Amino acid sequence: METIKGFHDVLPPQSGRRERFTRQACAVLETYGFSRIDLPLLEKGELFVRSVGATTDIVEKEMYSFADRDKEHTLLALRPEGTASVVRAFVDAGGARRLPEARLYYTGPMFRRERPQKGRLRQFHQIGAEAFGRDDPSADAEIICLVDDVCRAVGLTGVRIRINSLGDAACRPGYRARLAEWAGGRVDDLCGDCRARLQRNPLRILDCKNEKCVAITAEAPMMVDHLCEPCRVHYQRVLSLLSTTGPVVEQAPRLVRGLDYYCRTAFEITVDHPQLGAQNAIGGGGRYDGLVATLGGTDTAGIGFALGIERMELAGAGTADDDDRPEIVIIPISAEAEDAALGLARKLRIAGAVVLVGSAERKLKAQMKRADRVGAQYAVILGPDELATGRPALRDMIHKVDSDGCFDLESDAVAILERIRKVGTH
Ligand code: AMP
Repeated sequence: METIKGFHDVLPPQSGRRERFTRQACAVLETYGFSRIDLPLLEKGELFVRSVGATTDIVEKEMYSFADRDKEHTLLALRPEGTASVVRAFVDAGGARRLPEARLYYTGPMFRRERPQKGRLRQFHQIGAEAFGRDDPSADAEIICLVDDVCRAVGLTGVRIRINSLGDAACRPGYRARLAEWAGGRVDDLCGDCRARLQRNPLRILDCKNEKCVAITAEAPMMVDHLCEPCRVHYQRVLSLLSTTGPVVEQAPRLVRGLDYYCRTAFEITVDHPQLGAQNAIGGGGRYDGLVATLGGTDTAGIGFALGIERMELAGAGTADDDDRPEIVIIPISAEAEDAALGLARKLRIAGAVVLVGSAERKLKAQMKRADRVGAQYAVILGPDELATGRPALRDMIHKVDSDGCFDLESDAVAILERIRKVGTH
């Protein structure tokens, strides 16, 4: 039986590489004072309707939602993104009163019923972070520095960060009306999707990929030119902080992002990489100062981002990493040696080595072949002679160097591992 379309298994060595680069990303998040939050995969559908927005593609077309088997037939949804759940959890836990300046990160699967293609799945994975309680521009600049540091830590190069300001409740409605009016005069030239957007979510016209729409809206009024004074000052300060201490960012006046909850700073991270093609956005984020209040909490500012793990992989994250081949294969060549082999393996694993043990039922030659096939670096051979002296034979499989009797079975694990790893280095 096959997996459902858009849902994938992740097998070794990819799973190991993914695990390791995700851990590297988490380590960076922790240096910025973020702590991990684990969230349910299933939430009330209403959570995403209220936060992401009823007229967004995610909620309108892509959410996996269904009625529960309870009496009320509550509408449930597999989470399509993480921010809404983090904010819900933050509010549930007492909000800023209990968790002042909370900094939370998450990783895990998200679900969207999009048309699957390279870099676009129906179950995909994100690593994301949310910072609460800071509405000052330096929090925005810091989050953008963090995104850049995470990308570097996982080995990505050629990362571009595009930034825009989406205004706030004071200036966006006026701008939205202005844009709608402007586009209304050109409705016949817009694509079908944009005509629908004009009614429901006019800002989305600006990120339409249709070439004709791109050309037409080049002339459209842009949010950055219609910001209220506090939003303008905030945006300028974010840009100025980044220009002195942060990564290079590009201003992108057309960047609107597909979710309703953003205000002021919004950004997107792209990598031009042949594997990514058109799906070159590896992540995005922004400020969502009204969202905590929308979800029933005391008004608290928030800013965050999410990076797509599969797209980071396609862009080369984790490829510099070794895969998870065993370091040592222990080869017992007599029944008595099997006891010693299992004992030695446990000892070395406690010291941190990845160790496989062979079976004395197979010939030495077959066992050596297996050690080669699994890509082991070292083979430790234990036969009657080696047991008698307490000093196993050792082969560096990569450099084809033998070093018999170089360690004593009775030594402690760290000393043994040190001796093994020295073989082949001289
Ligand atoms: P968004 O929550 O839409 O801002 O997405 C943030 C990031 O998640 C994107 O930049 C992608 O890297 C990733 N992403 C979103 N949707 C998908 C998808 N259907 N398949 C794979 N990755 C996705």
